[in-house]
Amino acid sequence: MQVAGRLSRLRDVMKAEGTDAVVVSNLVNVRYLTGFSGSAANLLVGHDCALLVTDGRYRTQAAEQVAGSGLFDVVEIFVGKVQPQREQISGAVRGIGARKVALEAESITWGSMRRMAELLSEVELLPTEGLVEQLRQVKDAGELDRMAAAASIADAALAEVLGMLGERRSEEQVALALDTAMRRLGAEDRAFDTIVASGPNAAKPHHQPSPRCIEPGDWVVIDFGATFEGYRSDMTRTFSVGGAAGEMSRVFSVVAESQAAGVAAVRAGVEAGEVDRTCRNVINEAGWAERFEHGTGHGVGLDIHEAPTVSEGSSTILAPGFVVTVEPGVYLPGLGGVRIEDTVVVTDEGCRVLTGFTKEPVVAPR
Ligand code: ZN
Ligand code: ZN
Repeated sequence: MQVAGRLSRLRDVMKAEGTDAVVVSNLVNVRYLTGFSGSAANLLVGHDCALLVTDGRYRTQAAEQVAGSGLFDVVEIFVGKVQPQREQISGAVRGIGARKVALEAESITWGSMRRMAELLSEVELLPTEGLVEQLRQVKDAGELDRMAAAASIADAALAEVLGMLGERRSEEQVALALDTAMRRLGAEDRAFDTIVASGPNAAKPHHQPSPRCIEPGDWVVIDFGATFEGYRSDMTRTFSVGGAAGEMSRVFSVVAESQAAGVAAVRAGVEAGEVDRTCRNVINEAGWAERFEHGTGHGVGLDIHEAPTVSEGSSTILAPGFVVTVEPGVYLPGLGGVRIEDTVVVTDEGCRVLTGFTKEPVVAPR
């Protein structure tokens, strides 16, 4: 992973906020800044220094990944047990004479914070939120390539598996087939637990795949994604086995219209909350305001849910390179549900859709 320039962007934010150093404890943020993807690390970032501490399991990997990350900043690496890691960080904080040190409030534990405070009693420790996350909102070309690759793998996997919806298979079987196909097609993992929700189960937005068999006449919500070199995709499609008319087909038309309007509203300079309002208006007009109970979307990247949120009152202004989802849904308890979701890249003129699978809902029963 090429991470050049990211530490200096973080340092600009640190300067603006008046902090001398930040201890990055969120592992995804550590990976974003250094390329190191291990499961245990802390990263101290000062204005002229950076120190990555990890344990013996990652001695070789940390050195290789940091060396391969295209960083022109120097990142020192310390390998040792947990308490020596803390002592190394506090020693470095003292070495640079830092007075104000920020800790990531959303990821550091109460226990770690207290032990840091014991070691650095003369230093002011400040909670910080979203410092690195705000940088991660704007994706560079390498990140966008990986996300596009993840989305293409997911598209290809769904194309392979779609016919199963007409073959009286269970939700679990379809989900497993999708997950397997994504791995075979080059994904390192799925982006999150795959959702296959059929018939009345589709009224639950985050239904877990069950042994329920998918029958002709069912509407089926499939929400899934792939992970490729750390980056994720996120897509939902809703299908009708046999193309039954009735209340659910009316729901489908409204959600499809809402989702298309939402995608059309995405553009640099627009408030994220405006995209949510656009989607919600269509559904409200159809009389289902209370049946759309989640936000319209979220940022995607190294995490499946990251900044910004696309929901009511979200005041973040979309900028070129942001990647967000647009995923309105309507859920009718006892009957079923429809959700349609794309992952899109914000551009000056509008957006580029990464998730290309057809939204045509009808699957023929066999
Ligand atoms: Zn999704
Ligand atoms: Zn999503």
